[in-house]
Amino acid sequence: MDGLQPDPGKGDVLIVDDTPNNLHLLSSMLEELGYEVRCASSGAMALMAVSTEYPDLILLDISMPDMNGYEVCQHLKENQATQEIPVIFLSALSETIDKVKAFQLGGVDYITKPFQIEEVLARIENQLALRRMQIKLQQAEAEALRALEQEKELNRLKSEFVSMVSHDFRSPLTTIQGFAELLRCSGQVPDLETVNHYVDKIDVAVEHLLCLLDEILLLGSIEAGKLQYQPMTIDLKSFCQELIETLQVSTNSSHQICFTCTGNSTQAEMDTLLLQQIFTNLLSNAIKYSPTAGQINLNLECSEMLAIVQIRDQGIGIPLENQPHLFDAFYRCHNVGQIKGTGLGLAVVKRCVEAHQGYITVESQEGMGTTFTVTLPRYAQLSDHSLA
Ligand code: ADP
Repeated sequence: MDGLQPDPGKGDVLIVDDTPNNLHLLSSMLEELGYEVRCASSGAMALMAVSTEYPDLILLDISMPDMNGYEVCQHLKENQATQEIPVIFLSALSETIDKVKAFQLGGVDYITKPFQIEEVLARIENQLALRRMQIKLQQAEAEALRALEQEKELNRLKSEFVSMVSHDFRSPLTTIQGFAELLRCSGQVPDLETVNHYVDKIDVAVEHLLCLLDEILLLGSIEAGKLQYQPMTIDLKSFCQELIETLQVSTNSSHQICFTCTGNSTQAEMDTLLLQQIFTNLLSNAIKYSPTAGQINLNLECSEMLAIVQIRDQGIGIPLENQPHLFDAFYRCHNVGQIKGTGLGLAVVKRCVEAHQGYITVESQEGMGTTFTVTLPRYAQLSDHSLA
């Protein structure tokens, strides 16, 4: 039953009896022994008390006016949330308790009045111990099921990963093999221009393989929880400016990256290695998927608690139907044409953003351009420092 936990104390017992003397006698005895006790003097009050908070056990008088104990028990057993609370019936010795009916309705035991304290205690203890054992078993079962599901999901991801990786590795390897073959088997010594052309093709394929390998290793270590979130105090404005400079040199791009910054202070506590992954991937995508010399905007906006970074390009855009899968590993949109890529960059970006407990959104229209917006808390989040 949801919400019922093994009680670290002696247990929470609900006593239901329309005779005040019985209620008083049982409750004071149980309270003295360390039980949490609640009392109800009618069937309706008992159901209300149960719905407010589930007891660990109910002592339920059978003969009560309006709603007798059997009826109360039936209500409890019909409700999924309360059906597993153990019910011990109470009946006067003078009454003939219908034992078969009591057990059929789901009662676990019965006690006859006048009470013998030791007997009452023994029966309560017995049922509470059984119930605790049952809860532990249910928890262990739920835990085992969860672990099994996780294992299944992991196996599914592994096979998917292997098939995607082998597919992505095969294509550049086939290119290298093809051009090497051409160099070897052309029958005559190829001229220098042809050799250079073939070697260039091989170079591009090798570069692609190396890039793929780097990103797979990075994603693998993130998935394995090995990359740590290590925030330090930085100035976001200079961080962005330096990153743009480095990127323009390394990509040798003719794109114009316009940087704007708003906010009183741009100090932040973030992990610079992860930030580098986020911005480098988003900016190099903006460059890669935009026409030569296209304009790219990087806007940084710092409020008191948040840093919002927008990277906008006027490139090929992202088809609407591809957008839901954008952050899946190896996913590439249908309009990439000949533009090379691994489909891993955005998966890495998303995990790095989440390590900062931030989020990333995208707005894009095919043929019109794309804007990625990254929202990050300005100050380090202490709750979870790993990327697992
Ligand atoms: P890739 O190495 O293929 O660029 P990413 O994971 O970085 O991998 O991006 C996934 C896909 O998202 C890309 O293949 C591309 O289809 C699309 N994409 C990402 N950024 C942009 C962008 N700025 N403009 C258009 N499409 C983009």
